[in-house]
Amino acid sequence: MSSNSSQPLQPHIALFPTAGMGHLTPFLRVAAMLASYNVTVTLITPQPTLSAAESDTIASFFAIHPQINRLDFHIIPYNSPTPDDPFFSHWEATNRSLHLLHPLISSLSPPLTAIFSDFALATNMIPIADRLQIPTFILFTTSARFLSLMAYYPFLTSPEISNADANHIPIPGLANIQKSSIPPPLLHPGKSLFTSTLASNILSFSKVEGILLNSFEYFESETITAFNNGQVQSGFPPILPIGPIAPTGLVQGDHPLPWLNEQPAKSVVYISFGSRTSMSKDQIRALGDGLDRSGHRFLWVLKGNKVDKEDKEGLEELLSESFLERTKNKGIVVKGWVSQEDILQHPAVGGFVSHCGWNSVMEAALHGVPVLAWPLHGDQRINAEVVEKSGLGLWERQWGWGGEKLINEQEIGEKIKVIMEDEILRAKAFNVGKEARKAVEKNGGSEKVLARVINSLNPTE
Ligand code: UDP
Ligand code: UDP
Ligand code: UDP
Repeated sequence: MSSNSSQPLQPHIALFPTAGMGHLTPFLRVAAMLASYNVTVTLITPQPTLSAAESDTIASFFAIHPQINRLDFHIIPYNSPTPDDPFFSHWEATNRSLHLLHPLISSLSPPLTAIFSDFALATNMIPIADRLQIPTFILFTTSARFLSLMAYYPFLTSPEISNADANHIPIPGLANIQKSSIPPPLLHPGKSLFTSTLASNILSFSKVEGILLNSFEYFESETITAFNNGQVQSGFPPILPIGPIAPTGLVQGDHPLPWLNEQPAKSVVYISFGSRTSMSKDQIRALGDGLDRSGHRFLWVLKGNKVDKEDKEGLEELLSESFLERTKNKGIVVKGWVSQEDILQHPAVGGFVSHCGWNSVMEAALHGVPVLAWPLHGDQRINAEVVEKSGLGLWERQWGWGGEKLINEQEIGEKIKVIMEDEILRAKAFNVGKEARKAVEKNGGSEKVLARVINSLNPTE
């Protein structure tokens, strides 16, 4: 350490994301934000990555952020004995390799002053940080509302709750959560890696210095306040909303932007279900017909498979030739990676049909784009509730979980018309955007929280 220099000492923070673009993206954004505050940043990148989207994004990120240190962390291969989601198997493999981390980070210079860990690694990360005598923060990658469910999870499995016929789960200090919004694996805890990862990491909440959230006061005020008043659980660490975390300006993938540039303002509905969620072929066809029926222009990003390395099907195999022919002057369908950041801030985009992955929600919030929430898995229904409550968009609860039922073209077409045409909805979403941008301006609520965290980590000598 340069103790003989007259320069003030700056914190050195290591960030460790787990697999999945929904996890990598917020970590990269926070890494870039910290670097802009002159913090020394080391980004730990688990190798190999699971998807091409992740490896491409990591490479582009370091190319434009040469000041951020890269530490590749090689994961010991792990073959799950059960046919688990590949993302959750990757989390498990990372956890099983974490004993290799201490020697890699104990000799960094300047010495680390904190670790920002993914939730899925927290329990194994804390003893490593303790050995280094530095604090651990969790960077939580979904909503405060989902965090309230997680905090309450140990009670969720208690006999009084799990045997109850009630349709609602009471969360102390907060509105009830509907049972139908809780990811089914959590209500039937079995042997899934997902539930076991959650259960073991929930135990670490009380041991971390704080939980950083990609959210902002206005958007989830009730939940954030209840946490920080100790109503949800006493002894819970501070909830630190620092969002919407700023896009990194990475430009990758296909570029529908030239086409968007030619469309009138707010005339295009953008459809994407994130980086790892696909639909059945029947549902894809009904969605196409619904788009056609809505009468609006569209930009549709289609995925045929969960992990992009395996996504080989062509558009013609997923959509009929007549659909492609019929809609060719009105919309475009893209397969592959697009730069969603650029799309959501484009003036031609007037609405967003989204699965409500939390990053997508926050990107829509930042730009005030009205959302039609179509949650399919995991945390997405709880995130959709936040979308609805905040005024950012609409959620048709009856559509159920992904694959539960086939939603027909009429219903889809009608809802798309609403998000594209309803002036009140548009004004409310616009207002969310205004509040979002205010939160991250200098001295805005989220900006102040981040500055405070960084100040608290300044080395004292
Ligand atoms: N994304 C993108 N292009 C794509 C698909 C996804 O830029 O073609 C980005 C999107 O903007 C978001 C992230 O990938 O930042 C996906 O995270 P989210 O939490 O929305 O959903 P997930 O993919 O994890 O389900
Ligand atoms: N899944 C997904 N994207 C997500 C979340 C889950 O593709 O963002 C997958 C998940 O890994 C699982 C399937 O979708 O293989 C069903 O997930 P869910 O949590 O809904 O469990 P289920 O209700 O089917 O038991
Ligand atoms: N999740 C869930 N069931 C699933 C997948 C995910 O309940 O099958 C929850 C889980 O809490 C996880 C969160 O959703 O931490 C985010 O999951 P994931 O990384 O799959 O999606 P993302 O946030 O990237 O959209």
